[in-house]
Amino acid sequence: MDTVYDVTILGAGPVGLFGAFYTGLRGCSVKLIDSLAEPGGQLAALYPEKYIYDVAGFSKIMSKDLVQRLLEQAQAFNPTFCLNEFLTEFSYLDNKIIRLQSNVQEHFTRSLIICTGLGAFSPRKIGDPRIDAYEGRGLSYIVTSKEELRGKRLLIVGGGDTALDWALNLEPIAKAITLIHRRDRFRAHEHSVNQLFASSVDVKTFYELRALHGQEWVTEAVIFNNQTNEEETLGVDHVLLNLGFVSDMGPLKNWGIRFRKNSIVVNARMETNLPAVYAAGDVSDHAGKLKLIVTGFGEAAVAVNFAKNYIDPEAKAFPGHSSTMSALPLTLAKRG
Ligand SMILES: Cc1cc2nc3c(=O)[nH]c(=O)nc-3n(C[C@H](O)[C@H](O)[C@H](O)COP(=O)(O)OP(=O)(O)OC[C@H]3O[C@@H](n4cnc5c(N)ncnc54)[C@H](O)[C@@H]3O)c2cc1C
Repeated sequence: MDTVYDVTILGAGPVGLFGAFYTGLRGCSVKLIDSLAEPGGQLAALYPEKYIYDVAGFSKIMSKDLVQRLLEQAQAFNPTFCLNEFLTEFSYLDNKIIRLQSNVQEHFTRSLIICTGLGAFSPRKIGDPRIDAYEGRGLSYIVTSKEELRGKRLLIVGGGDTALDWALNLEPIAKAITLIHRRDRFRAHEHSVNQLFASSVDVKTFYELRALHGQEWVTEAVIFNNQTNEEETLGVDHVLLNLGFVSDMGPLKNWGIRFRKNSIVVNARMETNLPAVYAAGDVSDHAGKLKLIVTGFGEAAVAVNFAKNYIDPEAKAFPGHSSTMSALPLTLAKRG
């Protein structure tokens, strides 16, 4: 049998990463598995260049920088990362070890902490292959670098918080921004809607995207008014589709874990209904649940401490204080 890890964390988003650090702090071996190619979850995949203002200790921090800090903190304990992997099967072996099968390999672990957030997510597309074909050629679903859009003519499609946030964030950077939305009601904060209409962004309601043109790169977008069918052609350098994301819990729902809609039901110890299986972060559901990074961090710490106590009943769940721990790796202790 391959190495048996003390703790395996499914999902390397912010909560999984902090959980990996905490697992190391408790002297346990840890492996992280994620279906994406990069760790960081929603922060890295959906909003790497947005500021976060409600993480304790930082008055503001850019998402990708927070991911970097979390990685540094976790890496002090050398967690094993398995990226680009989808788990397919879950079973208990006779000796209580959990066996996980992925599309790549088998994993063995004494406990499992599920930190899969929204599930494996992908952007909602227009659904027209002629438009989808422009992905990477001027059509994108997220902004990975604001600088790349400097001086560009930008078309944003969508009427939710993400679309409006990007329109407002990119207004001083882009040359011109048009935002189209298929309705006249926005699913965004009232404050953002007011700011949008007060900005230089050209807002067109009841408009949808019909076609994109351009040889190597998109140069024109054809939009239409869904009330009158009137068409308009816009010269564009970049099109940002913010139509939301579709997420999929995949095979997790077949493993016997108790779900409430798309969330995993946990108790105050972050235990699921299955032995040695815990859940933390956006995916977990309990009384008073708030889907926030800070609450997820706390849940990860609780899950790890009770997993430690499960694996080694002699070990207390309460870890003691990190400020007095002698087992901290030098990389962390030196910085202190
Ligand atoms: C635009 C935007 C702005 C936000 N701003 C804030 C903010 O200011 N403050 C705040 O507190 N929160 C904010 N949030 C919410 C915050 O991002 C989430 O609460 C946080 O990401 C949850 O972390 P997580 O680790 O639980 O899940 P996620 O970040 O969703 O990470 C889950 C990880 O699990 C992986 N995964 C999922 N399913 C599987 C599977 N089956 N197999 C393998 N891997 C899997 C995913 O690929 C992903 O990497 C914002 C969210 C968005 C979309």
